Amino acid sequence: MSARIVCIHTPVLFDAAVQEAVDHLRRGEVVAVPTETVYGLAANALDPRAVARIFEVKGRPAHNPVIVHVASQAMVLECAAEWPPLAESLARAFWPGPLTLVLPRGPSVPDIVTAGGNTVAIRWPQHPFMQAIIRRCGFPLAAPSANLSNRLSPTTAQHVARQLGDRIPLIVDGGDCNVGIESTVVDVTGRVLCVLRPGMISGVALVAASGIDSIPAESVGAPGDSSGLNRSPGMLAKHYSPKARLLILSWSDETELEQQLLKHGVRLDHNIQILAHNHIPMSGRFAHVNVIPHDAEAFARGLYGELHRCDDTGAEWIVVEALPNTPEWHGISDRLRRAAVRE
Ligand code: AMP
Ligand code: MG
Repeated sequence: MSARIVCIHTPVLFDAAVQEAVDHLRRGEVVAVPTETVYGLAANALDPRAVARIFEVKGRPAHNPVIVHVASQAMVLECAAEWPPLAESLARAFWPGPLTLVLPRGPSVPDIVTAGGNTVAIRWPQHPFMQAIIRRCGFPLAAPSANLSNRLSPTTAQHVARQLGDRIPLIVDGGDCNVGIESTVVDVTGRVLCVLRPGMISGVALVAASGIDSIPAESVGAPGDSSGLNRSPGMLAKHYSPKARLLILSWSDETELEQQLLKHGVRLDHNIQILAHNHIPMSGRFAHVNVIPHDAEAFARGLYGELHRCDDTGAEWIVVEALPNTPEWHGISDRLRRAAVRE
């Protein structure tokens, strides 16, 4: 199989792509579609066989649940057994958008979606194409990122095609994703709000919108979390990985950068690619130096594209200049930390 790639940049193309995607989805097949976060691999969330295809195509382990995408409050209530006030406040502030709410699971949601658990993760995406196909299908869509399990998430149709092009019938090309990293995942089933996966909706924004005083530090998911809290598989230490080894370093000048590389066992004749935003190496001795924006939203939008490019151009090492430690950067730092972990 070789995926058809269809564009949606005119109204006629958009409508034709909606029809084609919906035809596949109604038959229980999977299709790759643009969302505002990253490209998703979508299937009918209420059909266990269709969802099983997602797991098969991605090589995704069965213990990793998938997010259910909806486009109406009625669909939320079809999938969740309860709708707590905290969920209402957050949905009012951030839906449609890059926020996923973990809720008590409703009876219509198949086991395979929740990995057998009693909660379900639900998101109302902002992307017009996602909204159009969900509405036209009339059922919610399970849609994890459209990449092979454990590999980098795709933010363009070409990224999807390279990883999954021979496994799926259709890739809908909506251009570059606007947010660029995966959604913020928040558990609202308990007494306190719990951030299972940080993202571009920061802790500060969640607190402001929900009217709670603060998010207790211990309820923000972290790899190797001592509380044993590991309800979100996005928290697995290794995830979102490029093929190259990735280092996060700080340096004030190029000599210091070189010393640090040597300390980490990196030979300077390796293919080293630098992603810097502040201290830009100018000597020309690295295989590639790219300046990425000093603005969290623009950085997130460009990050995976840069990592894909490094992999595609033979990088052995990717060195990312450490990011500021302020709330709007936490989701991005989380992805970089996981990308840096080796098994
Ligand atoms: P992906 O779409 O590949 O980025 O992965 C979906 C992510 O959603 C998972 O890795 C989890 O972090 C999260 N998730 C999905 N369902 C649940 C659930 N029932 N409880 C907690 N987290 C979930
Ligand atoms: Mg993923």
